[in-house]
Amino acid sequence: MEAPILSVVDMNKHFGGLVAVRDMSFNVQAGEALGLMGPNGAGKSTLLNLISGEYKPDSGTVKFKGRDITGLAPHKICHIGIARTYQIPQPFVNQTALQNIVVAAEYGRGLGKAAAESEAPKLLDMVDLLEKKNVFARDLASITLKRLELARALATSPTLLLLDEVAAGLTEEEIPRILETLQRIREMGITYILVEHVMRVMMKAVDRIIVMDKGVKIAEGSPNEVMEDRKVIEAYLGESV
Ligand code: ADP
Ligand code: MG
Repeated sequence: MEAPILSVVDMNKHFGGLVAVRDMSFNVQAGEALGLMGPNGAGKSTLLNLISGEYKPDSGTVKFKGRDITGLAPHKICHIGIARTYQIPQPFVNQTALQNIVVAAEYGRGLGKAAAESEAPKLLDMVDLLEKKNVFARDLASITLKRLELARALATSPTLLLLDEVAAGLTEEEIPRILETLQRIREMGITYILVEHVMRVMMKAVDRIIVMDKGVKIAEGSPNEVMEDRKVIEAYLGESV
């Protein structure tokens, strides 16, 4: 098997007395789409933050394309090809949708202003936001901001994309469109890790799923395998009662 594009080994992260991520290890192959599931508070966003450099682990390593990137600053991790979206979007609120993408292409990808300006509308179009290009981010609805967030991440031209609940809050009618967008991202050759609660999205958009509960990996396998796993069912039942 080819060397993995991403390797997380024995990762631990705690906040005070709470262990958010415990002894987490997994690999991602180039071109793979990996799903990350688990009840609220399982540690999914923390794990993405550890990969993207927002948080430094207490112990453990992250390797990207064979290089140890543990503890590297987020902007450096972005420059070497890992981009992410946030569960709570973080746009520049006083800039338009278009300006947000231009900035991401300039600073995240190192494009000149002219190239960034020619690239940005294509990215907005990819997430169906071209008609909102001149709207200030502060005036966009929060689910629209999720799409802007995705375009911002794509503007940095990532090899690996970390997607934190991009389909959250979408209506049934909007789901096929996000699935198409994810499919296009795959066709662009981008590897991704998708954190998602919307099961219809998860089942169609990933090759493999890791399930976390209370910071620990409790299951790993094909979407069908993990859905039938007792530990997974119990973790989710535990949440609803
Ligand atoms: P998930 O994304 O799976 O819902 P998170 O990774 O956001 O879970 O959170 C895992 C646990 O870590 C939760 O109990 C959360 O309250 C805690 N946590 C996450 N980030 C912080 C932080 N910056 N400071 C303190 N606690 C945090
Ligand atoms: Mg989260």
